[in-house]
Amino acid sequence: MSAYDADAIVVGGGLAGVAAAIAVAQTGLKTIHLAPVGPPDRRTSALMMPSVDFLKQAGLVDDPAQLGHALTQIRIIDATGRLIRAPETLFDAGEAGLEAFGWNFANTTLLERFHAVAATLGNLETRDLGVTALQGTTVTLTDGTTLTAPLIIGADGKKSLVRGAAGLRARETAFSQSALVCDLDLGRSVGGTSVEFHYPQGPFTLVPAGGKRANLVWIDNHATLLAARESGPERLTAMLLEKSQRLFGSITLASSAFVFPLSTLSVDQAGADGVVLVGEAAHAFPPIGAQGLNLGLRDVSDLADALAAQDRAAPEWAVKVSADYARRRASDLARTGSMVDTLFRSLLAEMIPAQALRAGGLWALKLAPALRKQAFAVGMGQR
Ligand SMILES: Cc1cc2nc3c(=O)[nH]c(=O)nc-3n(C[C@H](O)[C@H](O)[C@H](O)COP(=O)(O)OP(=O)(O)OC[C@H]3O[C@@H](n4cnc5c(N)ncnc54)[C@H](O)[C@@H]3O)c2cc1C
Repeated sequence: MSAYDADAIVVGGGLAGVAAAIAVAQTGLKTIHLAPVGPPDRRTSALMMPSVDFLKQAGLVDDPAQLGHALTQIRIIDATGRLIRAPETLFDAGEAGLEAFGWNFANTTLLERFHAVAATLGNLETRDLGVTALQGTTVTLTDGTTLTAPLIIGADGKKSLVRGAAGLRARETAFSQSALVCDLDLGRSVGGTSVEFHYPQGPFTLVPAGGKRANLVWIDNHATLLAARESGPERLTAMLLEKSQRLFGSITLASSAFVFPLSTLSVDQAGADGVVLVGEAAHAFPPIGAQGLNLGLRDVSDLADALAAQDRAAPEWAVKVSADYARRRASDLARTGSMVDTLFRSLLAEMIPAQALRAGGLWALKLAPALRKQAFAVGMGQR
């Protein structure tokens, strides 16, 4: 009989954690998922086609149209008022030979669907308990009990306890910008187009959410966003009308507004000694170009592959899985992290050469179909 309580313990009940728990259990491992129930996640996630394909293969989504909204175009409007301005640019999924770049989902909708799939797996047990300590292969839970497993998966977000306890080094840089999110009902629909207004303080993006509904992601200085949120619905709506240049007619708030502080976080390695990190425990960055959860799902996909490649009857199999996983993730994490960082800094850049480069880049993308195709592939995380 095994000395362990399970083959794998997954810590954290966000989208990356539930997806990881399902993927690990689907490989046949006895899995315990420690997922304390928290407040609802009011964010939305634009998931690119490779991520949606992964969700379909993993049985997490059958038909994206039943849960989300297709993203068929991306429209970029330079609202910087800078000396060197970029052209208005429209990217169409049709040019990349696709029906859509991806789909936009409410995180609560995805989570509900993931939970329904998790409930069908007999070898996956979910507990509404957090973790207070990790030592070797033993986790201590918030009720004071302990559990052991050879493989520990940290999906416990940016402030990951698992990461710290396993000695996996991370670097985090906080920005003065935050993101304000809320749902809006517009006078005119954005259709399938994600509309990005690029302001000097950060982008203001309307993401299609069906009919005349759009999900707003507004990046700006933290203090500006807090003041906007606190100013009351009337004043906030007036600000949103101005920011959207009244292109879509009237605006009505369809939800409360939430503000998320932004930072970048990266790790030297995403796994070692039987511990692996997925989702924001391993990487975080501003929501530019919709990369965060897309990257988190690629973590989960690589974890499943690392598990499939390992002989689990062999000694130290979990240590080998963690080393293999870290190797598989290294280049994707480095590439995506530096791409988003460069993009974010170029959006905010006050220096004339950086503005010229960004404007030049968008002109090049507007005019050169081959370059646009390459940009599509990078942005969609195609490997
Ligand atoms: C405004 C905004 C918009 C975004 N838009 C997009 C987008 O369009 N597309 C995209 O791909 N990405 C997007 N992202 C990124 C995406 O939301 C995140 O990458 C993703 O939700 C992270 O999921 P996660 O499960 O890793 O982390 P989290 O959602 O932070 O979940 C971590 C979980 O761990 C739990 N936890 C923490 N500590 C413990 C503990 N000790 N024990 C047990 N549990 C613990 C927490 O309670 C939480 O439930 C956006 C992010 C923001 C801020």
